Amino acid sequence: MSRAIQAVRGMNDLLPGALGHWQRVERCAAAVLKAYGYREIRLPLVEKTELYVRSIGQVTDIVEKEMYTFEDRNGDSLSLRPEGTAGCVRAGVENGLLHNQVQRLWYAGPMFRHERPQRGRYRQFHQIGVEAFGMPAADLDAELILMSARLWRELGIGDVVLQINSLGTAACRAAYRGTLVAYLEGHRAVLDEDSLRRLHTNPLRILDSKNPALQGVIERAPSLVDHLDPESAAHFARLRSLLDEAGVAYVFNPRLVRGLDYYTRTVFEWVSGALGAQATVCAGGRYDGLVEQLGGRATPAAGFALGMERLVELLAQGQVQAACGEPQAYMVLLGEEAQRRGMVLAERLRDRGVSVECDAAGGSLKSQLRRADRSGAAWALLLGDAELSAGLVSIKRLRDHGAQEQEQIPESSLAEVLASRLAP
Ligand code: ATP
Ligand code: MG
Repeated sequence: MSRAIQAVRGMNDLLPGALGHWQRVERCAAAVLKAYGYREIRLPLVEKTELYVRSIGQVTDIVEKEMYTFEDRNGDSLSLRPEGTAGCVRAGVENGLLHNQVQRLWYAGPMFRHERPQRGRYRQFHQIGVEAFGMPAADLDAELILMSARLWRELGIGDVVLQINSLGTAACRAAYRGTLVAYLEGHRAVLDEDSLRRLHTNPLRILDSKNPALQGVIERAPSLVDHLDPESAAHFARLRSLLDEAGVAYVFNPRLVRGLDYYTRTVFEWVSGALGAQATVCAGGRYDGLVEQLGGRATPAAGFALGMERLVELLAQGQVQAACGEPQAYMVLLGEEAQRRGMVLAERLRDRGVSVECDAAGGSLKSQLRRADRSGAAWALLLGDAELSAGLVSIKRLRDHGAQEQEQIPESSLAEVLASRLAP
């Protein structure tokens, strides 16, 4: 036997047994997004590297050190997508989805960042992303937040805290920049290598540093929110009053800046107390300048992305089990004739919406019942010579229901009986 090949570090297999929570989040999110009028869009996993440099920003962790960038056979520089917003804007501009209209879009899928793998941080991870275009008012920002809050309620996630901040416009950030650089210059001695390099290229990024040694300096830094232009201040005030009115609790965090350069005005994060260091399950904000920056006509926009792995970990901590595609019934088929008859019967059950797995490996009653148990089905349906000659099927509850009696049901009413027993 040759040596087995292992998966790439930080890129995980998602096995059937663990997918119940994933599918539940995906179902729930699709339903909630639909309820607000959002439509799905599917986008390539690979884009031109330049797209990310121009949107996320040259001097950011993602572009400087986390992207999977490679030359294709034509010599073009391409990158695996590290996030979805840039590609969504690119597609919107290219397909004429953004000009002179409002557009509410969502997507789901894998993203790639070459980070240090640890709990809640992987090199291939999954996001559900939401992007809305053409709506400048804070009402849209509030809608995005209410929508995410509804998703947490539907999923039964209680312990997440909403943090919000405003970054103002590019102009007021430019005005604030001088104040920030002067302050940071005064604390040069504690700045790390990354921060020193960014001090004059992208000082705002320093506020997003996760380095514990820098947190004191960051906490005492002058606040961007004190430098907001009047329109941005009014925008932020309106968002806060809309959230108050809707009864959504939030924490105003003047240090929240986010790790991507394209944000303007509102930024927000939903943070959990139960995830350790990687605590943000969902993050987003407004990015009014990005569409124009990527070659479209100026279009206001806002969005967020939630991290599936972190959300699923939260769900897995609650003791709730989620079904992950187990069949409702398992057919135990004893003998050639039973196998033929069973296949027809199973089709009839599926017509009635009952999911059935048919035994196709044969063997004794005992070995088939063992497989039935392992399948996760709620019911075993037994078909042998005795049942066949009487036109009956024996049914038996499986798993933690104690030693249940077997019952005999006429073949013709099996679908009806099962459907009613399986009804929630
Ligand atoms: P963090 O501060 O945790 O690195 P981020 O600011 O880089 O997050 P975004 O780019 O805003 O994150 O992505 C939105 C969400 O996607 C995050 O809040 C998180 O839930 C998830 N996420 C981001 N990077 C990873 C990763 N490497 N592994 C797993 N989930 C991730
Ligand atoms: Mg990050």
